[in-house]
Amino acid sequence: MGRIEGDEDLIIEVMDSREIRGGITDMNKALFWDLQGTLGGEAVASIEFFEAYPFSKEALKLAKDNGFKNIVITNQSRIGKGLLPMEVYKREEERILSFFNFEEPLIEEIFCCPHLTSDNCRCKKPKIGFIEDSIEKYGLDIKDCFVIGDMGMNEIVMAHNAGCKGILVLTGGGQGSLGEFRDTWAGYEADIIAENALEAVKAIIEER
Ligand SMILES: [Mg+2]
Ligand SMILES: [Zn+2]
Repeated sequence: MGRIEGDEDLIIEVMDSREIRGGITDMNKALFWDLQGTLGGEAVASIEFFEAYPFSKEALKLAKDNGFKNIVITNQSRIGKGLLPMEVYKREEERILSFFNFEEPLIEEIFCCPHLTSDNCRCKKPKIGFIEDSIEKYGLDIKDCFVIGDMGMNEIVMAHNAGCKGILVLTGGGQGSLGEFRDTWAGYEADIIAENALEAVKAIIEER
């Protein structure tokens, strides 16, 4: 495009609005990831023991390359219980983000709920406070979004509450969610059951 003398401001404005429009039309879908038991670590251990599963980076990259933003939502009631100081949590969050985002940014953001159920906050899964915040912040169309996690009572119920599809992975507490803890999310069904995070993303891409 030719440059018009004296119109730099206008050109910049046009570029800005194009960027904003592009953000809303092209990048308007997200995967809401659970962290522990889904991208690594164990379902209920402290985040200090989190190590990514070998396929997790590839899963996030595949999602990103297919136009999804990767947003992580984690319940960390250990913080609220006084078992995990917030500064330790923050350090661990940094460690995990640097690992996943080292080669290229794969995760947009990690949202953490530090509360106990008795705090009655709006962000503890299966509540959808962080999904609502993400929709607003990233201009998401919830119908194109998915929740992926290993706990039926958290992620699958949250997907239902948000009005999007929920994928249960069989890592972490996934097997238990389908077995001895099935009663904790009775009445709900996963839209997809996948072996792990990578298989979940593949299934999502196939479905679309
Ligand atoms: Mg989990
Ligand atoms: Zn909360």
